[in-house]
Amino acid sequence: MATTKKKAAPKKARSKTESHAFQAEVAKLLQLMVHSVYSEREVFLRELISNAADACDKLRYEALQSPDLIKGDGDLKITIAVDKAAKTLTVSDNGIGMTHDEMIENLGTIARSGTQAFMEQANTSDADINLIGQFGIGFYSAFMVSGNVSVTSRRAGSKDAWTWTSDGTGKFTVKPAKGDDAPARGTVITLKIRDDASEFLEDGRVQHIITTYSDHIAHPIYLAGEKDVSEQLNSASALWTRSKSDITEDQHKEFFGHVSGSYSDPALTLHYKAEGRNEYTVLLYVPSEPPFDLFDPERRGRQKLYVRRVFITGDAELLPPYLRFVRGVIDSEDMPLNISREMLQDNPTVHQIRKAVTNRVLSELKKCGENDAEKFAGIWKAFGPVIKEGLYEDMERRDQLFEVVRFRSTKTDEQTVSLKDYVANLAENQAAIYYLTGDDAEKAAQSPQLEGFKARGIEVLLLTDPVDSFWVRTAMGFDGKPFKSVTQGTADLDAIPVKDEDKPDDVDNSAVATLIAAMKQSLGDKVKDVRSSSRLTDSPVCLVADDAGLDRTIEKLLAKQGTTGVSVSAPVLEINPSHALIKALADKAKSAGASADFDDSAQLLLDQAYVLEGEPVADPAGFASRLTKLLSKSL
Ligand code: ADP
Ligand code: MG
Repeated sequence: MATTKKKAAPKKARSKTESHAFQAEVAKLLQLMVHSVYSEREVFLRELISNAADACDKLRYEALQSPDLIKGDGDLKITIAVDKAAKTLTVSDNGIGMTHDEMIENLGTIARSGTQAFMEQANTSDADINLIGQFGIGFYSAFMVSGNVSVTSRRAGSKDAWTWTSDGTGKFTVKPAKGDDAPARGTVITLKIRDDASEFLEDGRVQHIITTYSDHIAHPIYLAGEKDVSEQLNSASALWTRSKSDITEDQHKEFFGHVSGSYSDPALTLHYKAEGRNEYTVLLYVPSEPPFDLFDPERRGRQKLYVRRVFITGDAELLPPYLRFVRGVIDSEDMPLNISREMLQDNPTVHQIRKAVTNRVLSELKKCGENDAEKFAGIWKAFGPVIKEGLYEDMERRDQLFEVVRFRSTKTDEQTVSLKDYVANLAENQAAIYYLTGDDAEKAAQSPQLEGFKARGIEVLLLTDPVDSFWVRTAMGFDGKPFKSVTQGTADLDAIPVKDEDKPDDVDNSAVATLIAAMKQSLGDKVKDVRSSSRLTDSPVCLVADDAGLDRTIEKLLAKQGTTGVSVSAPVLEINPSHALIKALADKAKSAGASADFDDSAQLLLDQAYVLEGEPVADPAGFASRLTKLLSKSL
């Protein structure tokens, strides 16, 4: 029998041109780039320089462990060159470079999810191209000005170099780069500039872009002129090391763009030097707009950590998750340079810095809230729900956070009420901070449970973010006042005088007691209790939760999530003893006692209370037939 011998494929050096298809998402993105009509196409240069600077940073970090990588060429730099005759623009760096596989991975796929989000935005308006850096797709912006991009790169320490080329259609090629074509280390990106983008072949234009966009880059950027004379275009000193008064707002804006990928104005800038046990410089920004991935479950703090100007990592968690939107740099003077990224988690200096900087950010937010309500309103609108996560994640700083947070209430439609304001405006004899949780502020504001509070001029906080239900349950209180849900327990409002003059008239207590007994009997275990309410003025009934259990909003939320041991329990039905309908029903109960009619009325009242809560009635068919019976009678 003939045997076919399987021969192992010979390990041949890759020497031919390989052709690869772009990941489908990238192909779509490139199409958008190639046909772009963006007016701000110059952002491509900012993105390429940003990548070159990152590559230099990465090499400097790796060279801490392996000094050989940088031997003989220790001056990291970025060089831009324009060749008008050849119609090319070249961006070179002597940074970390890319291997064959890294090239295919980094320049053919998208690491961070988000292109979809980007393309949705990019389709809607012209200005959004500025966001490209935020989505981790800056490189592809080269195709806005070039129909042919080539990238030649040699990974530091590698003997091979490779050239990647693409015309922005579905494919790219990779082939070995030979001899003089390849840099000794790092990356050369050459863009064949399209005719409609020839402005980017003008030295003056290029120079202007670099000086406006890239002055903060800590590596020197040269513009190669004729006869090998290069002119350094930036100051190449790390922005945060400069003195506060030397940094312009534009420079902050550009640097913020570099660290966040979002080229809008930061809302808050924190720049200071800490001295004492640990010495470090902080340059952090609170953005003015939320990033697209603010609620991505993977999203963590992404601050940059430097040690004595050497970049260590871009995703050090130097702030807790609820401050993940704060972006920027912390540069330590006393951490060891050879600290590995893996060790950062347990490093005591990192812990101390994290603690101190977190406190500082919170105190700046508090200050902003006190001194510049308008600016703070913007920050709160963008990040309020995230900051509130801290109220249950960071017990240690809950009191600090209580001075930062803002709420909507029955007295204002905006989230502007601070707990301090709230406590300063308590009604006479009011001993608690009242709140109502729900998932829609408009609906919550209409809740019948609020009527008695409104009549007494008592402000009620409307907590409508999902996180609210969680923290408020475990919060002890603020300024000695406990938090109390208006939909749970007894309202105890009798000690607080009703404001408007037409107070509820006298109530026949014995009739109400009879009614309650009759209703309990009618409704059985559909309710936990029936009782007379002080929280109602206009509505006849409402539902509340028992004091001992969970607030109804959180109970519903947990039950929906399938939390074990939590199911929606029977509510307490509260009745309004001054309401005409309740009075009439009380008369009926007193004179006629129990009857089928009475049972129907009691059940309809309970159904109505559910409807007022925005909840379905328990038995729609029964509800309809009861209502029909009642309507037929009245007609
Ligand atoms: P981002 O910079 O946000 O990661 P980009 O699309 O700008 O996204 O770049 C994609 C990736 O390509 C980079 O993360 C990097 O790994 C690689 N890259 C781009 N330019 C260079 C360069 N000049 N040197 C080394 N790697 C680079
Ligand atoms: Mg980039």
